[in-house]
Amino acid sequence: MNEVINVPEIFGSDVFNEATMKQRLSQNIFDAWKSCIANGTHLPIEVAQPIAEAMKDWAIEKGATHFTHWFQPMTGITAEKHDSFISPTGDGRVIMEFSGKELIKGESDGSSFPNGGLRATFEARGYTAWDPTSAAFVKDGSLYIPTCFFSYTGEALDKKTPLLRSIDEVSKESVRILRLFGDQDTLRVVPAVGAEQEYFLLPKDLYAQREDLRLTGRTLFGAQPPKGQELDDHYFGSIRTRVSDFMKDLDEQLWRLGILSKTKHNEGAPCQHELAPIYTDVNSACDDNQMIMRTMKKCAAKHNLVCLLHEKPFAGISGSGKHNNWSLNTDSGKNLFSPGKTPYQNARFLLFLAAFVKGVDEYQDLLRCTVAYAGNDHRLGANEAPPAIISIFLGDELNAIIKSIVEGTDYENPEKANLRIGVDVLPPIRKDTTDRNRTSPLAFTGNKFEFRMLGASQSISSPNIALNTIMAEELAQFADVLEKAENFDEALHNLVAETFKNHHRIIFDGNGYSEEWKQEAAARGLSNLPSTAECLPTYISPKNIDLVTRHGIFTEPEFRARHAIYLEAYNKIVNIEGRTMVDMAVHQILPAAMRYTDDLCQSLYHKKAMNASCRAESDLVRLLSENTDALYDDINRLKEALATVPADKQEASFHYHDRVVPAMETLRIHADILEANTAKSYWPYPTYSDLLFY
Ligand code: ADP
Ligand code: MG
Repeated sequence: MNEVINVPEIFGSDVFNEATMKQRLSQNIFDAWKSCIANGTHLPIEVAQPIAEAMKDWAIEKGATHFTHWFQPMTGITAEKHDSFISPTGDGRVIMEFSGKELIKGESDGSSFPNGGLRATFEARGYTAWDPTSAAFVKDGSLYIPTCFFSYTGEALDKKTPLLRSIDEVSKESVRILRLFGDQDTLRVVPAVGAEQEYFLLPKDLYAQREDLRLTGRTLFGAQPPKGQELDDHYFGSIRTRVSDFMKDLDEQLWRLGILSKTKHNEGAPCQHELAPIYTDVNSACDDNQMIMRTMKKCAAKHNLVCLLHEKPFAGISGSGKHNNWSLNTDSGKNLFSPGKTPYQNARFLLFLAAFVKGVDEYQDLLRCTVAYAGNDHRLGANEAPPAIISIFLGDELNAIIKSIVEGTDYENPEKANLRIGVDVLPPIRKDTTDRNRTSPLAFTGNKFEFRMLGASQSISSPNIALNTIMAEELAQFADVLEKAENFDEALHNLVAETFKNHHRIIFDGNGYSEEWKQEAAARGLSNLPSTAECLPTYISPKNIDLVTRHGIFTEPEFRARHAIYLEAYNKIVNIEGRTMVDMAVHQILPAAMRYTDDLCQSLYHKKAMNASCRAESDLVRLLSENTDALYDDINRLKEALATVPADKQEASFHYHDRVVPAMETLRIHADILEANTAKSYWPYPTYSDLLFY
């Protein structure tokens, strides 16, 4: 029988959320906390102290003995250091203590986190500060306090601080626009995000036998299995018991943490699955996604599974991405990307849409760079994920409307004069009127944009920082024009028409996977940056630096530090992969092939003595020997490429991309031929069939 879970009762039960705070804090402390959040001000120590005490008592009741400042360093994953609540009383005993100071600020010896040159290692101090807009929670015996991470001199060393800055910025500029439309009530506009997470689950024992999976998270070798995903029999298929047990456990843990886990299903590739939460404010969505990835990994281990979040665990089989659904909402819950029923709502919608189109067109490179890293290089443009070229899908109806705006022609109603924004009502724009275009990197899906280029392992912070900042920039430009306008309706119409006219090239509804699109995109002058190595130099272009510094999202050193870290991460990842390949080829593949060849030779020798036919043996020996030689040469070429990496990081990234990666690819070809032609009992690690069809 199924154990009954009372979901409403357990939901958020491990979170020190607003309801719990209201219950456990005095009214004036609760109000003081609320006003800090509403006004974005610091929490005074007199307020922090009683909150810390209430938090500690609550956490201890939930089984916590420790607390940790949980933060998101620039590596893209999360970090934590646990301190117990114990405090000695002087007579050999302890009491449990937690002060307001410990709640709001922590010192972290973070000298080993990448800092991109922002902190010299001798100045190892890093600080963490509670982000009171993210609720604390209890997990595995610790009270987790979501925090920002910054240096002694105040530079942001994490992925949360710039995200919070970008939220404020897009809110400020959106409110400016709303005022022009006569909205005096909205105080804040908040980006909402729902991040769909793909992942693979493999049996732990098989995973453990593969060095490539253990060291790099993906298979570096592997002949194609007789069956792949061509039958589409896994997609939305029934979920096997071991996996559904995992999913049930996962959901329960996530619900306890107040994470709105909603949808779960099997994905296209064998052993691939997806989890989608219900969307929430982007700051929480970002924390939640980190917690989802972490919980997936831990929970899988409990079920003797391993969760792979790598973008491309298997060649020839779809990889894992993350769809980032993004919209802008007012504090009263109005979605600004929802086309409305009145001319006023339509006009507002078209203005926000125009700003988005303009921003994406102007900052294609920046958006592209936020999803550029080694793992994602295998996905983008590989016929399973959007191309490396940024474009926007809008659907037939919106395109027709935009066309009529741009060309000044009539839309739908031949009796009527030109469509005028601010006067005419748009026809209702239904959700998914056109076939959902799965090949577009940025698709409008009724009332939100789905950014589909993110890799599965990546923090969603950077792409959302970029979306928020780009939007803030364009809305600011629009507000500057419209605030000065004498005739608002007229100015608005011209602005929207002009914007769509000038940035039309970024809109594309065709097949993004096709070769023709690459050519057309080039003709349209769109940027195409197929690899991380090619992306990274453009990340720190003067235009991008100007954007992020002008909006106060990053200081220039902070921004350059990100670039340095991404560059270094790329180089290190390819280096580890290359070395792992050499290691496996030398220690496992070559010996296995040689052993098998040797046994065949023995057999050949004996058979020859008996005058028996031995065509199979001799053919195989020849084939194996040729490929063994080729593999041996490949190993040396890869070693040589790895030994000649230039010292300069930028040059090194090109060297990895142009020399190391191709050498890895050739090495794999010969190794996979050997695998396909060697008896299974000789092969040193589980094959694709073993892993994917267990
Ligand atoms: P799919 O893309 O697989 O068809 P859905 O359309 O149901 O799935 O939604 C995917 C994600 O988008 C979910 O996480 C959902 O909560 C989120 N989402 C829905 N509406 C919005 C919105 N207005 N803003 C941001 N995210 C949204
Ligand atoms: Mg989706």
